[in-house]
Amino acid sequence: MTKYIFVTGGVLSGLGKGITTASIGLLLKGMGYSVTAIKIDPYVNVDAGTMNPYMHGEVFVTEDGGETDLDIGHYERFLGTNLSRDHNITTGKVYMEVITKERRGDYLGQTVQIIPHVTDEIKSRIRDVAERSSADIVLVEVGGTVGDIEGLPFLEAARQMRLEEGSAGALFIHVVLVPKLSTTGEFKTKPAQHSFQELRRIGIQPDIIVARSESPINPSVKGKLALFGNVATDEVFNSYDVDPVYEVPKVLKEQGIDRVLARKLSLEYREPDLGRWMEFVERYKNSSRTVEIAMVGKYTALKDSYLSIIEALKHAGAHLHVKPVLKWIEATDVELGKLSVKESVESVNAAVILPGFGARGAEGKISIIKYLRELEKPVLGICFGLQLMVVEFARNVLGLQGANTTEVDPNTPYPVIDLLEMQRGVVVKGGSMRLGALPIKVLRGTLAYRIYGADIVYERHRHRYQVNPAYIDKFESAGLRVSGVSHEGFPEMMELIDMKFYFGTQAHPEYKSRPLNPSPVFMEFLRAASGS
Ligand code: GLN
Repeated sequence: MTKYIFVTGGVLSGLGKGITTASIGLLLKGMGYSVTAIKIDPYVNVDAGTMNPYMHGEVFVTEDGGETDLDIGHYERFLGTNLSRDHNITTGKVYMEVITKERRGDYLGQTVQIIPHVTDEIKSRIRDVAERSSADIVLVEVGGTVGDIEGLPFLEAARQMRLEEGSAGALFIHVVLVPKLSTTGEFKTKPAQHSFQELRRIGIQPDIIVARSESPINPSVKGKLALFGNVATDEVFNSYDVDPVYEVPKVLKEQGIDRVLARKLSLEYREPDLGRWMEFVERYKNSSRTVEIAMVGKYTALKDSYLSIIEALKHAGAHLHVKPVLKWIEATDVELGKLSVKESVESVNAAVILPGFGARGAEGKISIIKYLRELEKPVLGICFGLQLMVVEFARNVLGLQGANTTEVDPNTPYPVIDLLEMQRGVVVKGGSMRLGALPIKVLRGTLAYRIYGADIVYERHRHRYQVNPAYIDKFESAGLRVSGVSHEGFPEMMELIDMKFYFGTQAHPEYKSRPLNPSPVFMEFLRAASGS
């Protein structure tokens, strides 16, 4: 029988509920149970793919091409498993299904209502994932904050599931912020108290409380949270800020959350084995040799826009015993002349040209790429990054003035990057890019082959444009060679032959990087960057 753990949030969003959920998952997995996780996003968008990164942070792409919330990335990294698009449930998906059924006549004769029709749809989606994954435990994180109008149907569905599954079959964990007043150093529980009331108002009593705080809270604060939250003191846990976040499972375990979870869910207790995981954490913390990496993008004001890339650098760094120090370069500032190219990248050891869309910042990135290439610094271009490396090379090495991607300049005389064949005629924007894990043929004798050591690799994609095959001969004769090819036949990876690491990839290797299994692309990049 599958057991469910619902994780709700109080006070404000962006608390790190995703990390808490993933950490609990890791502990249960360490106890020998099979675990999976679902993220509920109460917004009306069908998926995260149509949102600006500033709204939402990174769009995390799953193997099956789902454009999902970045918490799915946390779950994959902590649980070490691939999840599918169905693990991200949104209001958009739920309503679309209910309305489709209504039109089809599935509810003929009835008034279609939020309870039971919408809540039934939510429950059936959760149970479908449980069934298909055949997990012992399904974690269900409800995005947003308790009290949000959008979240109500999901919390109501969760409340009903507790009734249906029984108290050992479904558990509620409420994650709350406990702020510290800088003037007095005092931890305040009032906002948390309000969120407990808000939960109770809709019929949910938490079983476990996780208090998020900047620094460890004292026992009296825990006592207060227990009193107002109506739980025992040993059912209150504190997740204070740690670096890296991969240490959170240990923080929670030290306070005994694993035993309380086992007791409440009537599971046999087995000591979670965190051996290899903590080895990784220790390596990360003990890596003192720094490498400065320029992160060149246009959503740099919100670092979450590039979350999986940041994590992939951490994973590889720990394995190589180096600490990547990130220097964020806002390409728009370079484009507008607010920041000089030299100032932005002269001091760095290497640079990542980040993924992106549209014209803003593109010229800024191109001038940075030129400078990096001329200085022979290691460069990793991801997706739009690869595309702009190709544009820069076309303009400044091949002398093709005005070369561009047709995404930025539809009338360029040299469309070195052009719309994918399969995208012609695509007008719908949602879920219509070339998405998900697709095979790439890696050519022998290349840097790409040294990276992967395999002829065929699968990486995840999210793009509409490609390197225009008509220019391949010109590129190759000038030293920019194709080292990976898609199954449709267009270049997936390109590299400069006489440089140590000047490599662009159309795919996103960051999505598959895991703490215990870092991406080989990031490993090789950091090796080059650190001279190891
Ligand atoms: N905008 C580019 C494309 O659609 C690159 C996308 C990306 O960087 N993810 O092909």
